[in-house]
Amino acid sequence: HIPVITIDGPTASGKGTVAHKVADHLGFHLLDSGALYRLTALQAIRRDTSLTDEHALAKLAEHLNISFTGEAVFLSHENVTDAIRQEEVGNTASKIAAFPSVRQALYGLQLGFRKTPGLVADGRDMGTVIFPGAQLKVFLTASVEARAERRYKQLIAKGFSANMEDLLMDLKARDDRDTNRAIAPLVPAEGAHVLDTSRMAVDEAVAQVLQWYAA
Ligand code: C5P
Repeated sequence: HIPVITIDGPTASGKGTVAHKVADHLGFHLLDSGALYRLTALQAIRRDTSLTDEHALAKLAEHLNISFTGEAVFLSHENVTDAIRQEEVGNTASKIAAFPSVRQALYGLQLGFRKTPGLVADGRDMGTVIFPGAQLKVFLTASVEARAERRYKQLIAKGFSANMEDLLMDLKARDDRDTNRAIAPLVPAEGAHVLDTSRMAVDEAVAQVLQWYAA
């Protein structure tokens, strides 16, 4: 029985960083499920696929040629690690993620990440839909202001331009879409531990997750 830890939460709640560190600590594999939606979005933008054409978008998701090497993400052998982090791609991802057939197309791919010795899965529906039987489920939150500030720093560090007001607006719009969509809405899974990281350092959050896992 291969253990799974799910870490779900809103955009820029810190779940990506926390998931990485927890996976490193335990020697587990990592699934960044948001990257799969971002890769589908990037492909759609590049191919000029209509963002309302559910069937065409699901086909793109189904035929993604992707690989992960350490922290790098490849799409058809091209390194798109930074390209998928752009705000436009994240926003597009949150739009296409509302289509049931896009989510269905990515379902099996996500289950395949569960390999020995274990998996840390980060996203929105890891605990509710993809791995409902996970050993530990965590729901990370943080205030929208704290999250906007983190996202701002991330973008600047990557050399992208960023504007606090736009980021706040984007985050709120994305929260709204992710929380209110009909399929796989962003809610804490049954039995999830909720952790508010607004005033918490990354390592404190990591320590808390590891403590819950060990308990
Ligand atoms: O987590 P990240 O910001 O990379 O995800 C991008 C978008 O993909 C989210 O805004 C969300 O709409 C979607 N997503 C999802 N389910 C997941 C992971 C991401 O719907 N498990």
